[in-house]
Amino acid sequence: MKQHYVLLHILFFLFCSALHAEKPRLRVAVVGGGMAGVAAAHYIQASDPGAQISLFEKEAQLGGNARTVLVNNRKGQAVAVDAGPQYFTEGPWDEYIRFLKAYNFYNTDEISEFKGSISIQSQGSLRPRLITPLYGSFRGENLGKLLWFKKFFSMAYKVYREPGDAYAKNIGDWVHSLLLPPHFKEEVIIPFLAASLGTTTDDIRKTSTVEIVKLFAFRRPSMRSTFKVLHRGMGSALEHAGAELRKKGVRICTSSPVQSVFLRGGNYIVRYENGRGEQEEAFDFVVLAVHAYQAARILQEDVASAELNTVLKGFEYFRARIVLHSDSSFVNTRHPAFLNVFTTADNRMRSNTMNLGMIDERYEGIYKSWLSEELCTQVKDRGRFLHETVFSHPLITPAFSENLKRMEQLLEPRKDLCIGGGWTQGLETQETALISGRKAMEKYIRFKAEES
Ligand SMILES: Cc1cc2nc3c(=O)[nH]c(=O)nc-3n(C[C@H](O)[C@H](O)[C@H](O)COP(=O)(O)OP(=O)(O)OC[C@H]3O[C@@H](n4cnc5c(N)ncnc54)[C@H](O)[C@@H]3O)c2cc1C
Repeated sequence: MKQHYVLLHILFFLFCSALHAEKPRLRVAVVGGGMAGVAAAHYIQASDPGAQISLFEKEAQLGGNARTVLVNNRKGQAVAVDAGPQYFTEGPWDEYIRFLKAYNFYNTDEISEFKGSISIQSQGSLRPRLITPLYGSFRGENLGKLLWFKKFFSMAYKVYREPGDAYAKNIGDWVHSLLLPPHFKEEVIIPFLAASLGTTTDDIRKTSTVEIVKLFAFRRPSMRSTFKVLHRGMGSALEHAGAELRKKGVRICTSSPVQSVFLRGGNYIVRYENGRGEQEEAFDFVVLAVHAYQAARILQEDVASAELNTVLKGFEYFRARIVLHSDSSFVNTRHPAFLNVFTTADNRMRSNTMNLGMIDERYEGIYKSWLSEELCTQVKDRGRFLHETVFSHPLITPAFSENLKRMEQLLEPRKDLCIGGGWTQGLETQETALISGRKAMEKYIRFKAEES
């Protein structure tokens, strides 16, 4: 009997030591299932397979801005088209390419490559004002304007490499200061820049010079820029990554909008909704992979975040309406281009249209346009409408960059809270969304080291 008693004591002692030896598994909440949220879950899971990760997405599917939709081409075949981000390129998007490879989604048979080409035309004339060369060919278009455009690219590239005081300048003032003919700046450069971001010519003048040139001047001025498109779509790649993460134990909660995140008793409480009503769960580390205005709403109940909240509310956004349609009247079919910018008589951008058939023949007869509500109604009336998505897009002004710095200062002492999203890296792309996911992982690792 005594022997049994001693044995039991030893077993109990061993059990308790084993319990203490095992480090507690940290509970991580990722809010937002766009590229940034999926990337945060991806990197944190890889760095600490023991972490208990829950990803909350308000919509039924992962993807966020990167959503892939099915529409019919001219032949009546359903093809996958990205409503938001469409293309990427090697060099500036290398981290994105590595992510696709990690999920076996970078299959060269399923990627189309195309050369960039832009034309700008005005309401009064069907003849384009400028066409960048398609496949390196000048096609007999206005060589003088083309050379001015090349000169503009060289100046933009210089700002990109050596920003100097351009950080504090808006792009309207910078373009104004360039030694180029005034009408060329108004009729070509400003509409081109507005088209790059999908916003109005008025809005684009307010944006930060450095952030906007990043969008197109990431390489030496070249007559040939090659872009890549995923046949199955960027949104499909994210859904695929989500399914793979689920197999690795990440809890993916779709249709679960997070109402609030706040500190209680040393834990973060995440309050969210799902089909079964309102739920509350405690977490050790939280990543908010959402836009600034969404993060402000989520943090509003947290007393510790009052100043952070004010900063988050200060970021400026604009709405971009992207319409997939089959209406070729927005495109000059005699001088086709990948991106066709159409301006009004006073050089305001009326629409910009991507001729998707030039990217890949499967997209034959499908156009993707930035359109106002009025133009969208016209497309619907003509029976040419396929799909519409309205995005909230950050307008990266010099004040935006200042706000970002302040936000980072306020987050510095908050070791267990991270605010991510493509927008936190300046200009938004799939690449910057991924980088923000990696930075969330780096913060998590520092937090974990301090905890143990
Ligand atoms: C029209 C357009 C074209 C673009 N083209 C390109 C391109 O060609 N190439 C490129 O690389 N990039 C492009 N981009 C940029 C790219 O789409 C973004 O940088 C990227 O998708 C941003 O990802 P994100 O995860 O930061 O944000 P989002 O994709 O916006 O993700 C945020 C997620 O959070 C979710 N969410 C919000 N609030 C809550 C809540 N309360 N609870 C739970 N979930 C919540 C949202 O539903 C969403 O899924 C484009 C963007 C737009 C709008």
